[in-house]
Amino acid sequence: MKILVINTGSSSLKYQLIDMKNEAVLAKGLCDRIGIDNSFIKHTKIGSDTIVIDGDLTSHRSAIKKVIEVLTDKNTGVIDDMSEISAVGHRIVHGGERFHDSVIIDEDVMQAIKDCIDLAPLHNPPNITGIEACRHIMPDTPMVAVFDTAFHQSIPQYAYVYAIPYEMYEKYGVRKYGFHGTSHKYVAQRAAAMLGRPIEELKIITCHLGNGASICAVQYGKSVETSMGFTPLDGLAMGTRSGTIDPAVVKYLMETKKMSLKEIDEYLNKKSGVLGISGVSSDFRDLETAVDEGNERAKLALAIFCYRVKKYIGKYAAVMNGADAVVFTAGIGENNPLVRDLSTKDMEFFGIGIDPEKNKVRGIEMDISTPEAKVRTLVIPTNEELAIARETLKLTAK
Ligand code: ADP
Repeated sequence: MKILVINTGSSSLKYQLIDMKNEAVLAKGLCDRIGIDNSFIKHTKIGSDTIVIDGDLTSHRSAIKKVIEVLTDKNTGVIDDMSEISAVGHRIVHGGERFHDSVIIDEDVMQAIKDCIDLAPLHNPPNITGIEACRHIMPDTPMVAVFDTAFHQSIPQYAYVYAIPYEMYEKYGVRKYGFHGTSHKYVAQRAAAMLGRPIEELKIITCHLGNGASICAVQYGKSVETSMGFTPLDGLAMGTRSGTIDPAVVKYLMETKKMSLKEIDEYLNKKSGVLGISGVSSDFRDLETAVDEGNERAKLALAIFCYRVKKYIGKYAAVMNGADAVVFTAGIGENNPLVRDLSTKDMEFFGIGIDPEKNKVRGIEMDISTPEAKVRTLVIPTNEELAIARETLKLTAK
């Protein structure tokens, strides 16, 4: 079975075609600037060079059409006909409280995803557009929705309800939802495999550190706590996002800086985080270069980022009454030894300790703990596309 995985943004669409026989990626790519001028598709047939084709991608529908064209083309393609795609898996950001798991998309599910637009106004609309475009071009192909929020639906109520009047939860659904669930679940499962023990008996702290970053406490295979909240703004300091701040700062910014709510939203989401602190960049590679050059604010940004990671590791060890493993994943977690080092420093009390030599690893699965550490620290590359493809296969193979 070959499964197409689709991740749609407002003006972009990422795709991967995976052969589930051996879980090999056959081709992948990105349609960018959809609906804007100079749109293009960047396509890689695995084993060949990446090509960039100017496309007239006026809409998501024309982007999907183009994707099918390049996938079935004599030169750039990997299949002869669209009918070889047995199912499509869609990454959907928000499934509200309704979806605890992935589902086959039907009219009812479409409506439920639309009902979640208020909760994710920037993400769910393009996700819906992506599904609609695929259904139009491939009306007979089954489609599956895989939600970023679903894995966290096992978090207990005392952890997800905010300490504001209860009606905000009851009437408006204001609560912690959490995100990156597909990644947290995938790396927790890989961690169990690496440790050679069933996930049902393990307590794992998964640190997904990319441009967006979140940490999750996975107890016996279920998410019991996570650092993102009602939106992906909460928790860790991130590339450009503030993470948790005192909510009274919002009032202060409105009164003293005369900022509008829209400006504050932009300020906290796009201009804060390590970019806002350092004034250098949101990218940790640039940040490290600046640190090496002696830039004090870059050093501070890095210190703040890692200090928060460390605090969450400590908190989640408390939440689960211990931990068997701490996992580092996503761009920074997989590739940045300095962040892993600073985030786990002086945690012998918790049984955490990493070996400086092993910690040099980048982008491959590896146990980087010292031999005596009680808690294993693991580097595990995430693979959300494969996780989505597996969910899609599980639901459509029946
Ligand atoms: P997202 O998917 O949330 O956009 P990523 O998981 O790609 O983000 O993470 C982006 C971050 O990871 C950047 O700060 C970048 O510096 C870092 N990163 C990604 N790849 C590498 C690499 N090969 N070496 C060092 N850092 C990397």
